[in-house]
Amino acid sequence: MDADVLIVGAGSVGMATGFYLARKGARVILLDEAEAPHSLGSHHGSTRLIRYAYGEGAAYIPLLLRARVLWQELEQLAGKRLFEPCGVVNLGTSGSPFLAQVVRSASEYQLTLEQLDATQTMARWPAWQLSPDIRGGFEPDAGVLYCERALSAWRRLGQARGAVLLGGQQVTELKAVGGQITAGTASGLQLKATRVLVSAGHRVAPLLAGLGLPLPLQRVRKTFAWYHADESVHDPAALSGFSADLPGGIFYGFPTLEGAGLKVGRHDGGQPLEPEQPLLPFGAYDEDQEELNGFVRRYLPGAGEMIAGKACHYVRTPDEHFILDRHPEHQQLFIASACSGHGFKFASVLGELFASWMLDGETGFDLSPFSLDRFRFIG
Ligand SMILES: Cc1cc2nc3c(=O)[nH]c(=O)nc-3n(C[C@H](O)[C@H](O)[C@H](O)COP(=O)(O)OP(=O)(O)OC[C@H]3O[C@@H](n4cnc5c(N)ncnc54)[C@H](O)[C@@H]3O)c2cc1C
Repeated sequence: MDADVLIVGAGSVGMATGFYLARKGARVILLDEAEAPHSLGSHHGSTRLIRYAYGEGAAYIPLLLRARVLWQELEQLAGKRLFEPCGVVNLGTSGSPFLAQVVRSASEYQLTLEQLDATQTMARWPAWQLSPDIRGGFEPDAGVLYCERALSAWRRLGQARGAVLLGGQQVTELKAVGGQITAGTASGLQLKATRVLVSAGHRVAPLLAGLGLPLPLQRVRKTFAWYHADESVHDPAALSGFSADLPGGIFYGFPTLEGAGLKVGRHDGGQPLEPEQPLLPFGAYDEDQEELNGFVRRYLPGAGEMIAGKACHYVRTPDEHFILDRHPEHQQLFIASACSGHGFKFASVLGELFASWMLDGETGFDLSPFSLDRFRFIG
């Protein structure tokens, strides 16, 4: 089977890239260990936040602004609701570096950000119980993306344009032969192409280690859960999405959407995992329930009992920024690790960007903050 481009890992970024490549007329084959969307990677659990006054750094904002346009376009092409315009409030104490960066990012890019004190935040969204030292930065244009629905849309739209998706194919080895890269799978397939994107989530590091490139990526087990909601205070009309850097940890959450319940997850912490270590289900550790219940009881006390929880994994870099680069010795191999638990919102723009980079040699963005060079001095 011939292809112009191979994609190893058809998850959030891989599936999006497959669509944009096929739309540009490329012959593309996507390999995934299962039939994405699925729950083996980092893209399950129905919903993801998208916000623009970025607390993780202003370098992401040009990507985010393009991502927003592409999400709107995808929603139209898919003919399905992919975005919930409920806004997102960033919460933090006055000393929170995250909240300070949210304010700087908004100011630098003239993004709409309403700054609120604790009393104003609780008046606006009565579900919150906040101490006086907590402040909020509300982004009315932000909201929630339906992640699995988006993957299904790219999958369908990409296949309709000729993309070939091979599910159930775990890539076990990458080899550079001449000007080409060969991907070998556990089932014995050998596929090659002159351009390859490695977007295999927690297996980016082991696959690239085989090509002489050690990457400082740590897989981490994470949990999230849904709670019985009181629609009068947890409905999107009464509660926005949130990202909260508060005493007790960094948490994020969603109003009750489509009757699913209030959803809460913890962003920091988690249990480090080896690449092939099994992901134990929610409830395997006492802290799975304790941490989330602790946050909900303290800050959102009107929520009811936990309905269900799930486990997922993040892939973290030491500085929690993405890796978007090419292999230094094999330039035909592109690396997408939109990692560290904040990458989904970028999947649309990264799909477009990698398609342009691999076919036309240009990205249209400054990717230097996401290059491998920054790890050169890590021992
Ligand atoms: C609980 C949770 C909450 C999150 N919340 C947010 C949020 O609110 N907002 C946000 O922007 N981001 C959020 N994220 C982060 C975001 O979901 C991830 O950053 C993003 O999904 C990563 O995309 P990816 O394409 O790198 O990985 P994935 O979507 O996981 O795709 C990787 C794919 O590669 C496949 N694969 C792996 N190994 C192989 C192999 N050897 N061969 C073939 N295929 C392979 C996997 O099966 C998978 O399909 C959250 C993540 C989690 C886990």
